[in-house]
Amino acid sequence: MDVYGLLGNPVGHSVSPALHEAAYEVLGLDATYVTLEPEPDRLGEAIEGADALGIAGLNVTIPFKEAVLDYVEPDEAAARIGAVNTIDFSSDPPRGFNTDAAGARRALEHHGVNPGARTAVLIGAGGAARAIGWMLTDAGATVHVANRTESRAADLAADLNATGHPLEAVPELAERADLLINATSVGIEADKSPVPSSVFHGGLTVMDAVYTPLKTRFLREAADAGATTIDGAWMLLYQGVEALERWTGETAPVEAMNESLRAALRGDGSR
Ligand code: NAP
Repeated sequence: MDVYGLLGNPVGHSVSPALHEAAYEVLGLDATYVTLEPEPDRLGEAIEGADALGIAGLNVTIPFKEAVLDYVEPDEAAARIGAVNTIDFSSDPPRGFNTDAAGARRALEHHGVNPGARTAVLIGAGGAARAIGWMLTDAGATVHVANRTESRAADLAADLNATGHPLEAVPELAERADLLINATSVGIEADKSPVPSSVFHGGLTVMDAVYTPLKTRFLREAADAGATTIDGAWMLLYQGVEALERWTGETAPVEAMNESLRAALRGDGSR
């Protein structure tokens, strides 16, 4: 049996096992997906141990996405983003990928959006924003980064060849944009949006990286203004699809994975 898993701390409530095991079932793969929660100061031992035990692949989440670069050979995208969320142990040394970037691209493409043809406002300057920003720039989009801590927006913008702004600039930037993405964690703990509802208009496609809840205030207010909305489960789905395809070489059963993921996010476990 092939063993895959998610390395993070904490990972207790992860929906990734539901996402991946739905695919194993459809594809008839003899595989399982486990959650692994090493102490943060034992990351190196955890990765060497996983390799020695014959684990086939790991996804990586908070707080290890950056630190894991010390233990794997990153591909060009992961190296440029500075974070790895997928490890493939089939080569020596293990290879590191960032499927958050491809996940965001495929989420947009699934909704008929070609990111390269867009003028995008990206809210946030953390790990998710870095991956999405890299993907947008790589696709050829015009990118404006806005963040609560303006200096972090400026740093990310400099890396991306984009422009950096404070959050307060989003209303003006959004007027001239056709893609607006929330890559902050605002909306998880409380029913809040990182921007006022006045930024939204019917010419925008609006995507949220937050997936708990699925209907964030950001997306509800965007929909009320007539914008096209894409919830955070799409990016989550496609980062998993991309990881599965890299690991197995199979074409992922996207529909079954999506159904299983959304059931797990609803908490009912049904497919
Ligand atoms: P992170 O590195 O900790 O970055 C957090 C970002 O949120 C920073 O830009 C931070 O701004 C901003 N922020 C936090 N609280 C804020 C507030 N009260 N007001 C305004 N801005 C605030 O986190 P991350 O790893 O990038 O993750 C961000 C979100 O993306 C999380 O919700 C995560 O679950 C989600 N995510 C989703 C996927 C997916 O597949 N759907 C993948 C990866 C991440 P400052 O710089 O000012 O602190």
